[in-house]
Amino acid sequence: THFGFSTVTESQKRAMVASVFTSVADSYDKMNDLMSFGWHRVWKDHFVSTLNPGFSPLSSSDPSAPQHILDIAGGTGDIAFRMLHHAHNVNSNPNVRVTISDINRAMLSVGKSRSADLPASQQAALSFVEANAEDLSLTRPLQPILSQQEQTFFDPATATSSIPDNSVDLYTVAFGIRNFSNIPQALREAYRVLKPGGVFACLEFSKADRHPLFNSVYKEWSFRAIPLIGQLVAGDRDSYQYLVESIERFPRQEEFRDMIVDAGFRVAGQGWEDLTGGVAAVHRGMKP
Ligand code: SAM
Repeated sequence: THFGFSTVTESQKRAMVASVFTSVADSYDKMNDLMSFGWHRVWKDHFVSTLNPGFSPLSSSDPSAPQHILDIAGGTGDIAFRMLHHAHNVNSNPNVRVTISDINRAMLSVGKSRSADLPASQQAALSFVEANAEDLSLTRPLQPILSQQEQTFFDPATATSSIPDNSVDLYTVAFGIRNFSNIPQALREAYRVLKPGGVFACLEFSKADRHPLFNSVYKEWSFRAIPLIGQLVAGDRDSYQYLVESIERFPRQEEFRDMIVDAGFRVAGQGWEDLTGGVAAVHRGMKP
């Protein structure tokens, strides 16, 4: 009984994504490790260290230049926490702050409680915002979840603030963009909120079909094992079936690079870096 995918409308996809992430929020971190054999940690570490937050080559006179990082679809905080750690501890730049934003309050709330273990200075540099990546002019600070029955999906009618044009130095989205209903619209919003010279960076599952044997093993794992693990560990086969199918449907590296260029970004070289044979890829663009 998995989601009949090819015919879904934008609003149906939105509803599915809402129920999937509300349902997986509590088991999300454990499942990531199981499904990827821990590889997601390696990819995330690489993503963050190559972006090198807190390092300001252009203003070497001011090695602690302030930076505003916006982590979109930030979920339970893996990218945001790594960004802060790298900026504050590796680059010794305390003037880097991170806004972690997600459409789902259940995911963000898990992130908020995890953040209690961070050093106080990092907690102070972190803010949590509910928003749909497709319209960052409608946002609000993370609200507490008061009851189990509550709708945890962000309702734009409750928005209280906006992310201004040209206000962000680095926009990150990890394993989020394939869930968006309207990816070109989200890319245009990324472009709007970034400062000129600002960087869009995306870590996402991609196509690993350059090596057929590797790819067939990977496909077996995804389509057979992941829904089964989802059922056994999280008691939720459908959500994990959705995750696997959404990976399958996401555009290939070249096509996604072209979408980034169409939104106005400049890319260097081919525009992406494959990780683990293309199981994941990092795409980057700069707003001119
Ligand atoms: N970035 C985190 C990480 O790497 O662990 C979380 C990734 S999780 C697989 C995907 C997240 O995308 C979920 O938290 C989900 O709520 C969020 N999401 C889905 N659609 C969204 C949208 N339109 N706007 C913002 N966030 C969205």
